[in-house]
Amino acid sequence: MSTASDARYGRIGGRRWQEFVALVLRVKGTVCHLCGQDGADTADHEPPLSLGGHPMSLRHAEPAHKPCNLARGNKPLTEWFAAHPPRRRPPLAPSREWFTR
Ligand SMILES: [Zn+2]
Repeated sequence: MSTASDARYGRIGGRRWQEFVALVLRVKGTVCHLCGQDGADTADHEPPLSLGGHPMSLRHAEPAHKPCNLARGNKPLTEWFAAHPPRRRPPLAPSREWFTR
């Protein structure tokens, strides 16, 4: 599985990518932007890389669970949310506090 576009992913899984994910989770919290649940452990790109998202831009990355991230793939968010209505979606920046039950 090696294509030209993989070059941009080159470091995904590498140390720089891990650090970037850690940064995204620290800055944006750990609420998955795809399902609205806490515990995100990876970064999903919005817009997707294939649509011009930058792999290492904080603006283009949102916290997401790995399974959610994989399931979404390059679907537009509108399509994703049509199929997976979020249970609760904070209107603005997600924080961990809202998740307390
Ligand atoms: Zn999720």
